Amino acid sequence: MSAGKSRVILPGATIGVLGSGQLGRMFALSARRMGYRVHTFSPGDDTPMGQVADREAVGDYNDLSAVAEFAARVDAVTFEFENVPFEAAAAAAEHAPVRPGGRVLHIAQHRQREKDFLASAGFPTAPFEHVPDRAALDGAISRLGTPCVLKTAGFGYDGKGQFVIKSPTQADAAWQSIGAGEAVLEGFVDFDCEISVVAARGSDGEFAHFGVTENRHRDHILDVSIPDPDLDPAIIGSAIEMAHGVLDALEVVGVLCVEFFLGADGTLRINELAPRPHNSGHFSFDACVTSQFEQQLRAVCSLPLGDTRRLRPSAMVNLLGDLWADGLPDWQVALQDRALKLHLYGKADARPGRKMGHMTVFADDGEQAAARAIAARGRLIARHQRS
Ligand code: AMP
Repeated sequence: MSAGKSRVILPGATIGVLGSGQLGRMFALSARRMGYRVHTFSPGDDTPMGQVADREAVGDYNDLSAVAEFAARVDAVTFEFENVPFEAAAAAAEHAPVRPGGRVLHIAQHRQREKDFLASAGFPTAPFEHVPDRAALDGAISRLGTPCVLKTAGFGYDGKGQFVIKSPTQADAAWQSIGAGEAVLEGFVDFDCEISVVAARGSDGEFAHFGVTENRHRDHILDVSIPDPDLDPAIIGSAIEMAHGVLDALEVVGVLCVEFFLGADGTLRINELAPRPHNSGHFSFDACVTSQFEQQLRAVCSLPLGDTRRLRPSAMVNLLGDLWADGLPDWQVALQDRALKLHLYGKADARPGRKMGHMTVFADDGEQAAARAIAARGRLIARHQRS
């Protein structure tokens, strides 16, 4: 069975999710609200999604018979984590429609394939070179110049598996640092800001987007997202148009996020694709008529896509494990901001850099909301600094 124009999957049906992190958790909460059952498959137990799912199947993604058995018990399969082996998506597709389809996963989980797809379809990216082995690196550095960024071809996220090369003498250090495996070298983009468009495409080609969000990173990890930044409407229109083009070209059925670098001269370049709901769309859970998670469900189930209008201006800040360094954050103090929505993902182990939760704050405009959200997060740790 394959994805395509297919029957509507109605409430009461069971949706299987490959992956079990916070994206799956928020998907499950949305799906259960609409009367669906949700199953998750991943190597972990007591996972963020497993805690709120109807069934938590524990298995290895490479155990294709376990994946097939999982898929046989659900009405459709989607994923919340793109680094699921392509073969697992193919094994699942023998038993249930997999949306988005395995081709999207195959392209988005490998930087070289992703870049090749974007370039061949005419989308702008940073200049790049394929670096299959160490020998290819020196030539690539001399052609792209420094600074440039060496990235692992597969299984990288949040800046993991990346090295900024400032001089050709760093080639060896960079190669070792990313694990001495197949890589992509990118020219360094001197961007003004990073933006993203989270969008959905239904099985009939219907398209809906969540507008443009500005994303501010810290140590390569998303820190703050502000929907609807004050940018030239032509830039916003062009980012949304490109996102539409990407979803159409990949024939996505589901949600996909396109991340862009925006140059000072207004030039947009696509940095990455994430074929699932995205951290920069978390604001939609509280601030939109339809969230990105419900939208994924609607697309996967061939239901009409929901209205993405904002209920109020908002901003989102991530809560990383670092906040737990001196003990439990002071939730009560943060919640004194009555227009703040706290999301915690049920993760027991608060390691530095680990996404433990987020907060969405409302205000009269996005910048004000961001300032309030950052202030509220500051108060979470203020208690520890005082003591
Ligand atoms: P990525 O995992 O590829 O999204 O990279 C994580 C972050 O590293 C991005 O959000 C940027 O802030 C930075 N970065 C990645 N690639 C480049 C590049 N080619 N030029 C400049 N900064 C980059």
